[in-house]
Amino acid sequence: MATLDWYGCATFRLRTSGLTIFLDAYIDRAADAPGTGLTADDIDECDWIVVGHSHFDHLYGAERIMARTNATLIGSYETIRVLEAAGVPGERMICVAGGERVRLSHDVTVSVFPSQHSCVWSQGKMSQSGEECLGDLGVTWQEQHARMQELQAFLGTALSPAAVEHLRTSFVAHSSRGDGGALLYLFETPEGSLLYQDTSGHWTGILDGLRPDVAILAAAGRGNIDGEPIQGSLADFVARQVAAVQPKRVVLSHHDDWLPGFSVPTAMEPLRQAIAAAAPSTELLEPGYLAATDLFPT
Ligand SMILES: [Zn+2]
Repeated sequence: MATLDWYGCATFRLRTSGLTIFLDAYIDRAADAPGTGLTADDIDECDWIVVGHSHFDHLYGAERIMARTNATLIGSYETIRVLEAAGVPGERMICVAGGERVRLSHDVTVSVFPSQHSCVWSQGKMSQSGEECLGDLGVTWQEQHARMQELQAFLGTALSPAAVEHLRTSFVAHSSRGDGGALLYLFETPEGSLLYQDTSGHWTGILDGLRPDVAILAAAGRGNIDGEPIQGSLADFVARQVAAVQPKRVVLSHHDDWLPGFSVPTAMEPLRQAIAAAAPSTELLEPGYLAATDLFPT
C-alpha cells in the first residue's frame, strides 16, 4: 500500500514499495504557525528527498534529515548549491533541471519536469482562494525584483516576532538565489503514478501532457501560467490545473497557514466548487496532517 502523510506547507512523506520518500523537507515551523509539532530532527527514516524549489519553506531541514539518514536528495542546481554550503556531501545529491528520469528502486522511478513558481512578487499578504486577481501582465524582471523588495519590507512589519525569528534562522541557513527554478516530479510505482507540485505555477505545454493517477497540486498565492499571473482566483488556477492533468484524485499542498501574517488559512469551499466544476470526475482529498492517506485504493 502506498501512503501519503502531509507535514504542512508543501512537505509530504510518501511510502511506497518499501521506500520512504520526502517530497520537500520543510518540517520545522514558526512558534505561532499551525503544524505537526515535529522538527527535521524527528525524521530518522528516509531513503530519498525530492525538492521542488530552493526557497526555505521547502528546503530548510533537508540538511538535518540528510545527516540523520542515508537519504539521497534530488533537486535543482541551486538547491544542491545551498545544501552543499550547509554541509551536505555533494555525492549524496543529484542535480536536475527537468528532463531526467531517476531510478529510486527496482520498481519505482521519478521523472522531473521544468515548472514555474507562483507570482510571489505580485502580492503582499497572500490572497484568499476565491479572490479575483487581475492585471500585472508583462511585468519585467526588474519590476518584479523591485516588488520583491517591497514584499521584504512588508514581511518585516506583518510577521510576529516568532515568525521573524523563524525566518531569520531558516533563511540564514538557506540563502537561495531566487526560487532556484521550480520543478515538477512524476513518481511511477507498481501501484500507480503520483505528480508532485510545491508552488502554484506551470508551463501549459508540459502540464497538459501529464496523466498521473493522483496529483498533489499547490494552492497558495497568485498562480503562474507560462510566466504570467493568472487573471482570476487561486481556485480558478488550481481547477484549471486539475482539468489539465485529469487525475483520479487530487491533494492540495501549501494551503495551510504556514507563516501567519503572510500566508492565510486557505478557504476550501471556493477550491471545492471550482475543482468540481472543472473536473467533475476527480476526487478532492482533504487529508489533515500525518493522515497516512491510502493513495491508490483498489
Ligand atoms: Zn517558493
